[in-house]
Amino acid sequence: MPKVVIVGAGPTGATLALMLAQRGVPITLIEAARDFKRQFRGEALMPSGLDALSQMGLNPLLKTIPHRPLSAWEFWLNDRRLFRVDEPLGSARPCTLVSQPPLLEALVQAAQRNPNFEWIAGTTVKDLLWQSDGEASQTENRVTGVHLTDGRTLQADLVIGADGRASVIRQKAELTLKTQPKSIDVLWFKLPAPSGYAADNRFCTVVKSGRVFSLFHGAEEGKMHLAWAIAPEEPTEQKDWATTFAALVPPELVEHFRAVGDNISSPLRLSVVVGRCDRWHRPGLLLLGDAAHPMSPVRAQGINLALRDVIVAINHLVPVLQRSENAASAAIDRALVSIQAEREPEIIQAQKLQAHEASRGELLRRFEVLRQGLSQFSPLVGPLVKRVWTQQQRPLREGITPVRLEV
Ligand SMILES: Cc1cc2nc3c(=O)[nH]c(=O)nc-3n(C[C@H](O)[C@H](O)[C@H](O)COP(=O)(O)OP(=O)(O)OC[C@H]3O[C@@H](n4cnc5c(N)ncnc54)[C@H](O)[C@@H]3O)c2cc1C
Repeated sequence: MPKVVIVGAGPTGATLALMLAQRGVPITLIEAARDFKRQFRGEALMPSGLDALSQMGLNPLLKTIPHRPLSAWEFWLNDRRLFRVDEPLGSARPCTLVSQPPLLEALVQAAQRNPNFEWIAGTTVKDLLWQSDGEASQTENRVTGVHLTDGRTLQADLVIGADGRASVIRQKAELTLKTQPKSIDVLWFKLPAPSGYAADNRFCTVVKSGRVFSLFHGAEEGKMHLAWAIAPEEPTEQKDWATTFAALVPPELVEHFRAVGDNISSPLRLSVVVGRCDRWHRPGLLLLGDAAHPMSPVRAQGINLALRDVIVAINHLVPVLQRSENAASAAIDRALVSIQAEREPEIIQAQKLQAHEASRGELLRRFEVLRQGLSQFSPLVGPLVKRVWTQQQRPLREGITPVRLEV
């Protein structure tokens, strides 16, 4: 059977490797990090992502991972609540926070139970291996494997770049990422959660004094997360963050932030890259997840879309990979074209909807008059804004195009 090398064991690579390994495909999964205790990367799974995991038979695995459903979404302007919407907003499942390191570890452990699966951790892929043909330029040739930083070369019938938004595979394959203008970075804080918050875990978005930020109780017991949007050029100054936050958070949380003092973690600065490749493939090579289409953190789309990429990829790849070796190359390459064609419309639309959500937040952040007006009349306008917002969430929660596991 043709051999597949997957580069990167984030949500895309780890899930795809498990699915292909379970279907008998020989797989090597290569991850640069030695373990999964990597920099924090978002935990929110929308109903579409939870549905994708369920379709892939991963509900029992998910139950063993620290996770926590959200209770509601709240929007605060100045010191007034504009509206609150309770989960699950008509969906089958509530948006749920799932801790990524144990999830990725469990996915790889499950893949390791298959004899056709090989796991290489703590080693980086540095380049692609190409079929040599004196006449053609390199990128017109077929990708036939990868070079690792430890000096090894691995041959493959298909290489899948699931190595995230700074993808080396994308660069080496000369597949261009078209990025949207950079508008924000995020400072990510963790702090002790107020007692009782977990029982009513609101995802609060706050707009006040020219700032936008969100807070919620994460998957980990007793930990509140705070995501603070800053301009990309804004320095990460050392501040008395507890005092800064206490002046901005909803009134019911002010005392908690005053008391929390030094127990707020130093922030992680997370750079936000949003974009899309026009082309996700070359002969013998496919990009998936953030490597093909890095997503904004707005309304937690990236992991969910990556899981849906995986389902579409296995639908197209498994039938051709299960054929005999010599028939495979042309059929594999046709499958790669079909995967991009099926996934691209949802990605384009999701990125548009994310940009639309972000632009509304930005309007409120910049225009005090608008904020004042909406907050003053929140009892009147709140219910209307709530209805419109709730309707607009559907595609970002449920997905935009149908995605069904068929193999
Ligand atoms: C601030 C922020 C918050 C977010 N919050 C959410 C959220 O709540 N919900 C959500 O759905 N999405 C969220 N996202 C987006 C989400 O994190 C990504 O879309 C998702 O992680 C993409 O998964 P991936 O597997 O494609 O890539 P990644 O998660 O980036 O994984 C890539 C993997 O490849 C490895 N790798 C990289 N290069 C190499 C190499 N050369 N060789 C070997 N291995 C390599 C990396 O170590 C990494 O493990 C957020 C993003 C940001 C920036």
